[in-house]
Amino acid sequence: MVDEVNPFESLQEQIDDAAEYLDADEGMIDRLKQPERVLETTLSVEMDDGSIETFRAYRSEFNGDRGPYKGGIRYHPGVNRAEVKALSGWMVYKCAAVDIPYGGGKGGIEIDPSEYSESELERITRTFATELRPLIGEDKDIPAPDVNTGQREMDWIKDTYETLEDTTEPGVVTGKSLDNGGSKGRVEATGRSVSITAREAFEYLDRDISEATVAVQGYGNAGSIGARLIEDQGADVVAVSDSSGAVYDPDGLDARAVKEHKSETGSVVGYEGASRQLTNEELLTLDVDILVPAALENAIDADLAEDVSADVIIEAANGPLTPDADDVLADRDVYVVPDILANAGGVTVSYFEWVQNRQRFGWTEQRVNEELERLVTDAFDAMTTAYEERGTPNFRTAMYTVSIQRVLDAAEKSGLFP
Ligand code: GLU
Repeated sequence: MVDEVNPFESLQEQIDDAAEYLDADEGMIDRLKQPERVLETTLSVEMDDGSIETFRAYRSEFNGDRGPYKGGIRYHPGVNRAEVKALSGWMVYKCAAVDIPYGGGKGGIEIDPSEYSESELERITRTFATELRPLIGEDKDIPAPDVNTGQREMDWIKDTYETLEDTTEPGVVTGKSLDNGGSKGRVEATGRSVSITAREAFEYLDRDISEATVAVQGYGNAGSIGARLIEDQGADVVAVSDSSGAVYDPDGLDARAVKEHKSETGSVVGYEGASRQLTNEELLTLDVDILVPAALENAIDADLAEDVSADVIIEAANGPLTPDADDVLADRDVYVVPDILANAGGVTVSYFEWVQNRQRFGWTEQRVNEELERLVTDAFDAMTTAYEERGTPNFRTAMYTVSIQRVLDAAEKSGLFP
């Protein structure tokens, strides 16, 4: 990971790159490069042994022109203000890419959750939810899962909010368990958009995805489900990794079996069906057709990008490529499906969950997946149209031109207040 690249500066560079192709007021573009507000707070929480620990926590509300702030909450030792600001901005342009009525937000706690017991994590989460209470609400700001959080944490946030507010408001948070108002298909949704956009990219390039080989960096929710669904299209997933290392088999691994191995042992390393282990760098530069970075920001910098051998990159993670890496890859004719489209399935099904919560009416999984397919393929078409008509250097800038224009249109029509 390339620590010196500030993800917030990367976001601003991506916006500037796209603004060159738009006829937009400079002041309005500046407005779209900064968060509207950021909450930075210290959580003081009692541990199981009676001691008190403090944790830095953040929630950035980036832009609300198109609707309530929307985005996940991550638990990771690397969480910091710049990262949360960047991630909240990427949410704005992601929600606009798939044309759902949300702005963007993101939160996080600087913590390694593996070092805490379940009851400690519950108290930490409920303390954070108490801090978030004045900001969040189904029409204001709607958290969701992100790195190292899931249904369990979302259920705690919902319960804390509803108890303090003395109400029922399941749409205050998405990614909940099915028993607590979650949506069918939400867990698979991010991996599903990774798989749909891989299929669309191959169709666009006139290539057959069933003949493709795939490497996946990061085997959490997005990576493992994305791998499985791409494998279901006939492709061979030949290498996967997690923070402990990578496994490889030129004849193809079995994405489901690797996931089972990881669930049982805590890592993909040691999976018996693999012919050998790789380093993280070997995996990222492997001679495959599709590379799926599905871990954290800045996984690939300009130097590494020179050695990437894949033809297509599908960004399951948020911000895995630095802007300099993007330039190198565009020069080398590597097609990158950007994060704000490739992993947008998660927030799209969050939107469906919120709609179901508000209507108190649940959808079938088939309906969820059909609507997801429609929104993601429409966004892919909007991106490739912009790529061809505006002549942008890559798909990312094309997608940003579409998203920024949508946010500008909303802002312009409502005007500035006062
Ligand atoms: N954390 C996910 C993302 O980065 C999902 C956000 C959501 O569902 O609101 O897109």
